[in-house]
Amino acid sequence: MKFYTQILPIILVTFCIFGYVNYTTQNIKPSVVKSTQKIKEYKMKKSDKEWKEILNDEEYRVLINKGTERPGTGEYNIHMKEGVYNCKGCDNPLFTSDQKFESDCGWPSFDNAINGSVEYKDDYSLGRVRVEILCTNCGGHLGHVFNDGPTESGKRYCVNSVSIDFKN
Ligand SMILES: [Zn+2]
Repeated sequence: MKFYTQILPIILVTFCIFGYVNYTTQNIKPSVVKSTQKIKEYKMKKSDKEWKEILNDEEYRVLINKGTERPGTGEYNIHMKEGVYNCKGCDNPLFTSDQKFESDCGWPSFDNAINGSVEYKDDYSLGRVRVEILCTNCGGHLGHVFNDGPTESGKRYCVNSVSIDFKN
C-alpha cells in the first residue's frame, strides 16, 4: 500500500516536473537562437577571399569595410553624363543620371535611388546617428543619405565613387 500512497505520487510529480522543464526549454530555445542569428542573407554572397579577388584595395576598404573615399577625389564627383550607376560589387543598378545633382560636398550626390536597389541602416559610428546606404543585392556599403537635398525629394544620397560603376 505504501507504494500507491507515498511512492507513486512522488514518481508522478517527478515525471511532471521533468516533462515541464523539457517542454519549456524546447519552447524557449528556438526563439533565443533566432534572435541571435538575425543576419540578413544577401542574394549575392561572397567570402572575404572572393571579394578581394574582384575588388581592388580601395574598393574593398569602402564597400566591405564601410570606409569613405577622400572628398573631392572620386571619379564620379563631377560627372554628369547620361546613364546608370551600378554597384561595383555586384552590378546591381542603383542610381540613374537623372537622380544625380551637382553638389559641393565632395562626393557624387543623388536625390533618389532606383526603387528597391538600396537599403537603409542606422549608423551610430562617429558619435552621431547617420543613415547608411547599402546595396540590397550584395550588402556593399555605398555611403550615407541625408535630409538636406536641394531638390523636391529633400534627400542627398552621398555615395562613394569607388562603390559605383557608370554604364551608359
Ligand atoms: Zn551590390
